Amino acid sequence: MRCPYCSSNESQVKDSRPSEDGAAIRRRRHCPDCGGRFTTFERVQLRELIVLKKSGKRVPFDRDKLARSVAIAVRKRPVDPERLERMMSSIVRQLESLGETEITSDLIGEHVMEGLRVLDDVAYVRFASVYRNFREARDFEELLGELSSEDEDPGKDDNDNGKITAGNRDGASD
Ligand SMILES: [Zn+2]
Repeated sequence: MRCPYCSSNESQVKDSRPSEDGAAIRRRRHCPDCGGRFTTFERVQLRELIVLKKSGKRVPFDRDKLARSVAIAVRKRPVDPERLERMMSSIVRQLESLGETEITSDLIGEHVMEGLRVLDDVAYVRFASVYRNFREARDFEELLGELSSEDEDPGKDDNDNGKITAGNRDGASD
């Protein structure tokens, strides 16, 4: 595994243990060339996914890229990183289980919103506001209204019910 700091190919595994309830192997790595430390996760990939973007462009699904946009939404929020990882795994597994090679960026966004809604209200609103591309304050108020009317989401670890919020207000944005 190439070192993300100095690009050396000499990184060594210091420790490896199961993570996310055994769904992943977490490896702590150390780079002897620059002293950098980083962590990698090994996971099962059930199938290759292609993302169909609103622009019509197709790109390979990139879990890390999605994780980065989610990380921005949860920044400085009290969200357990392990739970966040589990949420990401759950989303990817759900997408893989659809049986389609091609999935829309809209659908991915809806899944992330569903997951964040359970984890953290603020992160959810942050993600949703970017994803839904709010143009009017009214949209925001509507969303906050949705939140206050749903205190508990029963879908905790059972996200397999296909429940997706059909709240895409402006399909025209990209
Ligand atoms: Zn290095």
